[in-house]
Amino acid sequence: MKAKDSKFGKLNYCQVCNSKKLQKIIKMGSTGLCDSLLTKKQLKKEKSYPLNLVRCTNCQLIQLDYTVNNKEVFHLKYPYKSGITKPLTNLLHSTSKYLRDNFEFSKNPLAIDIGSNDGTLLRGFKKQKFEVLGVEPTNIAKLANKNGIKTLQSFFDIQSAKKISEKFQKAEVITGTNIFAHINKLNSFMEGVKLLLDKKKGLFVTESHYAVNIIEQLQYDSIYHEHLRFYLLKPLDVLMRMYGFKIIDAIKIPNYGGSIRVIASLNQEIKPSNNVKKILNYERSKGFYTSKKYTKFSNDIKKNKKKLSDLLLNIKEKNKRIVGIGCPGRCITLLAYCNINNRILDYIAEQSTSLKLNLYTPNTHIQVLDEKYFFKKQPDYALILSWHYGKNVMKNLRDKGFKGKFILPLPIPKIIN
Ligand SMILES: [Zn+2]
Repeated sequence: MKAKDSKFGKLNYCQVCNSKKLQKIIKMGSTGLCDSLLTKKQLKKEKSYPLNLVRCTNCQLIQLDYTVNNKEVFHLKYPYKSGITKPLTNLLHSTSKYLRDNFEFSKNPLAIDIGSNDGTLLRGFKKQKFEVLGVEPTNIAKLANKNGIKTLQSFFDIQSAKKISEKFQKAEVITGTNIFAHINKLNSFMEGVKLLLDKKKGLFVTESHYAVNIIEQLQYDSIYHEHLRFYLLKPLDVLMRMYGFKIIDAIKIPNYGGSIRVIASLNQEIKPSNNVKKILNYERSKGFYTSKKYTKFSNDIKKNKKKLSDLLLNIKEKNKRIVGIGCPGRCITLLAYCNINNRILDYIAEQSTSLKLNLYTPNTHIQVLDEKYFFKKQPDYALILSWHYGKNVMKNLRDKGFKGKFILPLPIPKIIN
């Protein structure tokens, strides 16, 4: 059996195993795309798409039941740059270091990064003496090339893989970090990786936001259209086996509020590390393969929405001003689902270098402004939208002179003086 290359629109089967046994977890309404902020003109004709989370009771994959055309999601002007913050750059470079420290490679091995963005991850591989090639569909590819990271501007599928195989040696590493949940043509993607990877030494490395973290820490704001799948290790194991890969290592990493790095090989003789078994046992023993777990998750999300809305409305009744801090993709879900609109937040403050400045959030129509304005105006409250980096963000705001109070929206809404 193979996975399907999903069509766009409503899906009534599991994206990995094709089963139709899907448990509904939560309906989050209809929302706009997280990385398509709107210009003033676009506010009048904005598009939205259903956002529902379901779970396959056969292979345990948690997933959306609707696929938006990836050319709309990863449009050419997609605003995300992975090298934008120092801590994130360090985290991305940890991938190449981990592989160098734990596995053996030939001289001048090739590393291919799929969804390579501005080439930050590959710069790490270059440092570790790899030849590198990026594959990236958006215009950020041009920036990567300009900065000396060879990058093919294209979506990755079996066709682009064939083109690469004509020009390059077999890859000893293929990475898909934070994009492996985004791919709608899963079959074509897996066949492409298989074609390019060295059969003996090659490692296929994925890093994905880990479903255990999402559920245990109530990170429901990471549910958005770009993320078609939310991986536990179990469904990844099912998927890898379907294509002849064997998972040989898995570790939890801190990226994006808790991710899992999974290393797979086509070489069946490699013995898997103990981590693989340990993580699978944890998932099973904590009930992640039971429907009950997801009924509770759904109830917890609804409770959070009520608490957060009450807290913010309470502040607004006292005529205080609240400003959102940071505009990560994931905040779009939180704002839309909790009805936090431009009557509640005056605006959202972003760093001066942000590509989102002066645009508006989908659905809730809050304008994004330069943080200089925020420091000058000193509003009463700052709602921390990158709450998963909350401590750092709050310290940074205080250091730069913010005198008001903080609000953390998740996992339990609270005010910090
Ligand atoms: Zn399934």
